[in-house]
Amino acid sequence: TPPTMRPRRVVLKLSGEVFGGGDVGVEPDIVHSLAKQIATVTRRGIQVAVVVGGGNFFRGAELQKRGMDRNRADYMGMLGTVMNCLALQDFLEKEGIETRVQTAITMAQVAEPYLPLRAIRHLEKGRVVIFGAGAGMPYFSTDTVTAQRALEIHADMVLMSKNGVDGVYTADPRIDPTARKLEAITFQEVLQRGLRVADQAAFSLCQENKLPMLVFGAEGDDTIVRACAGERIGTLITA
Ligand code: UDP
Repeated sequence: TPPTMRPRRVVLKLSGEVFGGGDVGVEPDIVHSLAKQIATVTRRGIQVAVVVGGGNFFRGAELQKRGMDRNRADYMGMLGTVMNCLALQDFLEKEGIETRVQTAITMAQVAEPYLPLRAIRHLEKGRVVIFGAGAGMPYFSTDTVTAQRALEIHADMVLMSKNGVDGVYTADPRIDPTARKLEAITFQEVLQRGLRVADQAAFSLCQENKLPMLVFGAEGDDTIVRACAGERIGTLITA
């Protein structure tokens, strides 16, 4: 069994799929629930930065298959993440939580530019920081950015909230009925077995820098709260 981890500063990845509830666009009821949970955790004194995905709008690789230039398609994907950021910011402010959006592509009217030292200052003041536009670079994913941001702002844990799966399994549970959920696993095993619950690059970054990652299901109205409280939900991946 893995050790209980009650983190002080986390980076939470919310995929675009979560924001859209499986559909294109943003589902306000879901974003409201996410914001309520993040507000609860923040009021308990845990510093939360969020990396937001954009798969509910565009995925560059999919647009490429339909004939678009990959670079431009990836920029569309990154811009999609910013809409999710603004939706989350709105619901967090309604919960009474001060929030700053920082984007890797500058867009001064809606967000600050990504400034890691300033992000840390915001967190220390009890603000939630939402990172948008991924890394600002095509061919990257928001999973990888999550690991990178967590390292740069000295978070002690990465929280990967997933739609449709509640942890790491021995195989893809949607394909293989014998797949078992793992309580704990190492990054090395995840990489060796080719388990694709997040990007390989994200796992590698965490492994090299000994940054633990908790993979857990987004479903339910308290999974983020429980993950931040150090409960053993999902799968803990460690170096
Ligand atoms: N993207 C990118 N660089 C980044 C992050 C994202 O080019 O650093 C693009 C890429 O096209 C990706 C899309 O933005 O498909 C949406 O991000 P992602 O797929 O990571 O979102 P999620 O699957 O988590 O919703």
